[in-house]
Amino acid sequence: MAPPIISLRHVTKSYASGVSGRGRANVALDAIELDIPQGDIFGIIGASGAGKSTLVRLINLLERPDSGAIRVNGRDSGTVAGGELLKLRREIGMVFQHFNLLSAKTVAENVAFPLKLAGVRDKAQIAARVSELLGRVGLADHAAKYPRQLSGGQKQRVGIARALACRPPILLCDEATSALDPETTRSVLALLRELNRELGLTIVLITHEMDVVRQICHRVAVLDHGRIAETGAVEDVFLHPRHPATRALVRKAFGETDAHDRLGGGGHVVRLTFLGAATHSPLLSHLAREQGVEFAILGGKLGTIRDEPFAQLNVAFTGGDQRAALARLTAAGIVVDTLAEPANAAPPLARREFADVV
Ligand code: ADP
Repeated sequence: MAPPIISLRHVTKSYASGVSGRGRANVALDAIELDIPQGDIFGIIGASGAGKSTLVRLINLLERPDSGAIRVNGRDSGTVAGGELLKLRREIGMVFQHFNLLSAKTVAENVAFPLKLAGVRDKAQIAARVSELLGRVGLADHAAKYPRQLSGGQKQRVGIARALACRPPILLCDEATSALDPETTRSVLALLRELNRELGLTIVLITHEMDVVRQICHRVAVLDHGRIAETGAVEDVFLHPRHPATRALVRKAFGETDAHDRLGGGGHVVRLTFLGAATHSPLLSHLAREQGVEFAILGGKLGTIRDEPFAQLNVAFTGGDQRAALARLTAAGIVVDTLAEPANAAPPLARREFADVV
């Protein structure tokens, strides 16, 4: 893994609650440990109230933590102030849910704005940079338009171009696709992925939607009640969620296998996770032929993680040599989680505890 470009060490933030702040302290973030590797698309996901907005304000250095340390691009944010702090803030481009464009300014003027704030005076230099940025986000023909003349997706592209104007190494997207329809969301996420690949940009995506994380993130941290519930590669967290908060987010994105998915015909009931090329292999029909097992698919989900296909199927086996069949699946790299075993089964096959997979 690349070294972290953002790291949080034991970061805590509370707000005074109650009338005029005299109530008990409300802990918005509690002892957060987080490393965001350089060059990653890193998702931070959580339900409403989990602490996402607070985390955004800390990462973009608009607020300071009560305790703990935040490092951005090699600098300890606690030790900088004034002009140095402004400079460090410019290392992070911000993209907002509601775009935050200046309605009285044209697209080109919106994108030029941060350059002017940063003190760039050379008009030709600004024009060249704006035109390069608009080309990159697919809006070369829209420079003279006003935000009201654009669709939501186009407005967000302007927001992205503006955020990149001063060439920050980090882009922080705060619910950047939450106001967009699914198709526009896909196209904006595709643009972010392209920027990540082509510019080596580190992208931090704050979202409440697992689907957004699934489409483009490499790694994800799940926030729950101000704490990191779990963190890891998206494949692991999405396909094998351990924490109830993560399971709830996956269920919301996909619907979920229900209790009846565990009811087989007296044989092994397993959850099989296929990822990548294995997803399209006819392994189950081979097993039926070779081991004489029969299988019924009780439920499951299919889709992609980034562009890689996956299938997670709840399957009930009956007859034949089921143990040999399951060993064969494991040997082929399929993750096998046992949901129910035959009543007279010998040592359990489960890789994980039953409670972990429901
Ligand atoms: P999210 O963005 O995930 O919905 P927030 O960071 O907005 O979560 O909120 C986390 C917790 O901190 C909530 O309990 C919220 O009420 C509290 N909180 C956030 N900002 C403030 C604030 N400025 N004053 C008081 N409480 C706040």
